[in-house]
Amino acid sequence: MSATRGALLLMSMLAAAPVHAQWLSRTVDGIMGTRIYVEIWAEDQVKGEAAIDAVMDEMRHIDDSMSTYKPTSEVSRVNALAARQPVPISAELFKLLGTALEYSRITEGAFDITYASVGYMYDFRAHKRPTESQIQAALPAVNYRHVLLDARKHAVRFSQPGVRIDLGGIAKGYSVDRGIEILQARGYTHALVNAGGDSRVIGDRFGRPWVVGIRHPDHPDQVITRIPLVDAAFSTSGDYERYFDEDGVRYHHIIDPHTGHSASKVRSATVIAPTATRTDGLSKTAFVLGPDEAMRIYNQLDDVDAVLVTPDGRILYSKGLQPGDGPSAAAAPADATPAAAAVQAPPAVH
Ligand code: ADP
Ligand code: MG
Repeated sequence: MSATRGALLLMSMLAAAPVHAQWLSRTVDGIMGTRIYVEIWAEDQVKGEAAIDAVMDEMRHIDDSMSTYKPTSEVSRVNALAARQPVPISAELFKLLGTALEYSRITEGAFDITYASVGYMYDFRAHKRPTESQIQAALPAVNYRHVLLDARKHAVRFSQPGVRIDLGGIAKGYSVDRGIEILQARGYTHALVNAGGDSRVIGDRFGRPWVVGIRHPDHPDQVITRIPLVDAAFSTSGDYERYFDEDGVRYHHIIDPHTGHSASKVRSATVIAPTATRTDGLSKTAFVLGPDEAMRIYNQLDDVDAVLVTPDGRILYSKGLQPGDGPSAAAAPADATPAAAAVQAPPAVH
């Protein structure tokens, strides 16, 4: 090889080498009523910041179209009209409604976006809850089978009056998946996107997994178990997220579609699966069905794992996380190694 060709080759190799590769991260409060955290390994800072901008824009778009707190959102329009007439909706909302109904079937009705027919009467910040007679009057409207999708017209209709939907139990997971898709389309291969209780990671942290900590239900700073993850999504639901206590009873934001009351059969549920839409759609189930029934469902799904904390403080692991069964999370060291501590992005800890 001539000296000139060698120099050229070296120069082109240098040009291809990442010069300022680094982890970029950003936290934004107040989208979808929660905190969004994005972290990426970026070779170019300007392009990296633009990619994070694009993820945040997508989250705002989903919030604008799916929030029931926004009277102008598509979902609010559906709630206002769909009991009287079919309402044509965007392809995006149509698809997500279909997915939500699929999770109702998978979870045997525990996940149900029509919980909102009763749920809208709760205001956990204001310590407000419906009376028993208000619950009983509204309860017949809670049933995912009341939501009728017309694929030809791309329209949704409710089969009876009083039905309301709320995507608070799946839209965050969906938005995390959308964020990850945006990053993947721009070539990122190491990233974390988190929205409230829902997160997804792509790649690893250079030979080491990302590590998720599951928090103690009563002590936010105590981590009860750690799970190493690569290319996976996870959602944690907890009765400590939005709640108030009254006369020794905890009223919190996960509603049992059968009773209209807060569902309290576990204290927290963490679900791990390939997408955050899936983990979000499954993480409420254990509260409603209880640990045994929920584990039966999780264990039937090949790509799903779960960690449940019961009211009496036991930690239950799904089949795939049992010690001795493959790469065991249950056997992961409870004390943070320096690497684990370094990868423990605060918003990913629940
Ligand atoms: P986060 O909002 O932090 O992601 P969760 O994933 O646990 O928390 O979702 C809780 C939300 O799910 C509630 O605030 C409510 O909007 C919605 N929800 C409550 N009960 C149900 C239910 N039985 N089925 C579907 N969604 C529900
Ligand atoms: Mg969630």
